[in-house]
Amino acid sequence: MLQRMEVFDGEKVIEEFEELTRDAERVQVETLKKILEENGWAEYLQNLGLNGRTDPQSFKECVPLATHDDFEAYIQRIADGDSSPVLTGKPIKSMSLSSGTTKGRPKFIPFNDSLVETTMQTFLTSFAFRNRQVPIGNGKALQFIYSSKQFKTKGGLAAGTATTNVFRSPKFKSMMKSIQSQCCSPDEVIFGSDVHQSLYCHLLCGLIYRDEVELVYSSFAHSIILAFRTFEQVWEELCSNIRDGVLSSWVIDPSIRAAMSKLLKPDPELADLIYKKCAGLSNWSGLIPELFPNAKYIHGIMTGSMEPYLMKLRHYAGHLPLMSADYGSSEGWIGPNVNPLLPPELTTFAVLPNVGYFEFIPLKANAQDQEQEGAQENKPVGLTEVKIGEEYEIVVTNVAGLYRYRLGDVVKVIGFHNATPELKFVCRSNILPSINIDKISEKDLQLAVEAARNVVAAEKLELVEFTSHVDMSSEPGHYVIFWEISGEAKEEVLRECCNRLDKAFQDAGYVSSREVKAIGALELRVVRKGTFCKIMEHSLSLGSTMNQYKTPRAVSSTNTTVLHILCSNVVNSYFSTAF
Ligand code: AMP
Repeated sequence: MLQRMEVFDGEKVIEEFEELTRDAERVQVETLKKILEENGWAEYLQNLGLNGRTDPQSFKECVPLATHDDFEAYIQRIADGDSSPVLTGKPIKSMSLSSGTTKGRPKFIPFNDSLVETTMQTFLTSFAFRNRQVPIGNGKALQFIYSSKQFKTKGGLAAGTATTNVFRSPKFKSMMKSIQSQCCSPDEVIFGSDVHQSLYCHLLCGLIYRDEVELVYSSFAHSIILAFRTFEQVWEELCSNIRDGVLSSWVIDPSIRAAMSKLLKPDPELADLIYKKCAGLSNWSGLIPELFPNAKYIHGIMTGSMEPYLMKLRHYAGHLPLMSADYGSSEGWIGPNVNPLLPPELTTFAVLPNVGYFEFIPLKANAQDQEQEGAQENKPVGLTEVKIGEEYEIVVTNVAGLYRYRLGDVVKVIGFHNATPELKFVCRSNILPSINIDKISEKDLQLAVEAARNVVAAEKLELVEFTSHVDMSSEPGHYVIFWEISGEAKEEVLRECCNRLDKAFQDAGYVSSREVKAIGALELRVVRKGTFCKIMEHSLSLGSTMNQYKTPRAVSSTNTTVLHILCSNVVNSYFSTAF
């Protein structure tokens, strides 16, 4: 199997992938059987009367669809030290902390070695396809990767984010070494105690090895943007560190300092070269290939909530291709991107049929369909039963104790790779509550912001970040959009943006509710520069990592800390006059 491959053979990996996907239906049945054979006697499944049956039909009859809330008590018992078979046959020894973007608080997800293996399979598969298109040699990868704070749960289980758990795994480390360019940064930088010090040193390591860098990577594109925005601020300091061979004194983590002292030697020539390049750039356009002349591509998740960063990413990337990474979550991987040269807007994920058992809840296209079919929710369909062009909520049964788990993501079936569907990530489901009969999705919000940001872009300003909130504190309730902009925009420009946002929501429920004033005028609140960084810092302080950080695109009233950060940093607000 893939994991046991001594020397990476991309064509063999692709061949195995083709075989699995050709036989997706049978592989799904086998995968479920294997999961249930290993875990069927765990308390959760036993209580549901599965009695050792392992076929899809019995599974669906006995086991209900569930959310994280349904598993929480079981997971907590494991975290508190219950080593009996609660969710899995073999005891769970570590926990992942998911970023908890939607709820505003991280949640525990059981983690085990099987998840490391499915991660490796996903990475190997997409790497094989990427490497077929753009082969990379023995150079280095500038990877903006970080570790979360590791801690022990009450019951003594190791807990950290899924990426940290995976990156720490010796198996994973050796696989990465065998297939991919070596990370420029030493482990001490990746596992450093402070994300700002790590980021700065990642940049420094990248510059030291600038001629060897073949690709630039982060798990989610947000971290690449953050890294090069930081570069814009600190490039002179980086140059002076390289010139003198001395690391800035504010980097105080002793292990980072020790590791960096081995790499950093006085190099005035390199410092001058970088200085000249930066001074010669207009508006940092094409920065990445300028700094790393042998880079071949940029890699990281660029879909879904990362799409708003594409414009900025392309600005930094210049001519380099953007290769969007795979689709997965702390709960497990779903599918690799096997068409890496497609632009991120067109990226799809071919579901790997042996990494979990997948079901799909059809989402009704419009309110009329819903009325006709009654309020009842649609029945989930199997992996090979989905239809092209339809949208679904994805349900996962994974290899680490989650059964029929609603991931909360909406996907669209774009086509099939052999017998397995190619999914486009659409958005998180239901992030914004309805005020009246409106149904605004994360995607609607993204499109509206896209339409309005062009107005500030025409003023040579940049929309740095955004989020939304449903304000029900006065009657009628209304939508609030928070914006952070790169500079000061004129009042008439922002008023125009506010009207565009309001008009851009195409949802019939929203438009009709606005017309009869059952929803109040949309409000645009502009926040101070740096506000969204404070939100990120808050999330990191709760145990999240920059690897998995995603700006929440909606903030609920119960997420009081984030709402407070936003509201206390408002510099101006505008109400729409569009209706
Ligand atoms: P976490 O478990 O905190 O890392 O978050 C997992 C979530 O990130 C998923 O449920 C998706 O909503 C989102 N996500 C993961 N991979 C992708 C991708 N390739 N494109 C878009 N969103 C993604």
